[in-house]
This record gives sequence, structure tokens and C-alpha cells, in this order.
Amino acid sequence: MTKQRVIVFNTVKALGSHPTAFEIFERVRKELPGVSLSTVYRNLSILVDQGDILTVRGIGQEVHYDHNLHDHYHVQCRICGKVSDIHTDFIIPSCINPNNEEGYIIEDMLITLIGVCPECANRMKVEDEDA
Ligand SMILES: [Zn+2]
Ligand SMILES: [Zn+2]
Repeated sequence: MTKQRVIVFNTVKALGSHPTAFEIFERVRKELPGVSLSTVYRNLSILVDQGDILTVRGIGQEVHYDHNLHDHYHVQCRICGKVSDIHTDFIIPSCINPNNEEGYIIEDMLITLIGVCPECANRMKVEDEDA
């Protein structure tokens, strides 16, 4: 790994809760003042290709990055956009039959639950009480 890539990788780990490329860039820039956003993107995509980190997609275009390679589910707050791990009994039905009329070879399934985080739910409650 190049020094840049090590710093990008460590930053994804340090930021913890599923940062976006821009959040990673903002942090990496403090350590490597000359670094460009495209360099950070390039290093992130190499780390993803190598299986060192994962991407998480939610609502919107933004890709989030995750250093936690264990099987786990994500939830995104539809209000603040934050992506978190979620511990839930929610289980993907294993009876899904990957055979399909359309002829696709099914390889993976991306699931991000969408909801309202406790902080946003609280804020909504307070606003309701104020009204
Ligand atoms: Zn929220
Ligand atoms: Zn995660």
C-alpha cells in the first residue's frame, strides 16, 4: 500500500460511521494538505476493489464507505442522511429464488433500511410540542 492509501484506509476506520468520500477527503486533507478529491476517490476505489472496505448505498447519489467487513445491515435516516449499522431481527428471506424470467445471473442483493434516526425523531417531537 502506498502511504496515501494507508492514510485513506485509516481515515475510513477512524471516521467509523460510514463516511462519504467528501468527509474522508476533508479529514485526509488535514494530514496530507496537497491531496486532491480525485486522489482520495482513486484510493477508495482501489481499497474497495481489494476488499479492504465496502461501499454502502442509500437514498441519493452519495456512496458511503465502511471498514466493517462483517455481515451486517445498514439503516439510513431519510432526514439527516446518516448511515448507521442496525442490529435487528430483520432477516433476508432465504427462500428468494434467484431464477428469474428476465434471465439475470443474480450475484448479490443490496439492502439499506430507510427510516428516521433517534436524534431526528426527537427533534421532530420537540418541534411538534412547540407548535
Ligand atoms: Zn437523522
Ligand atoms: Zn456498516
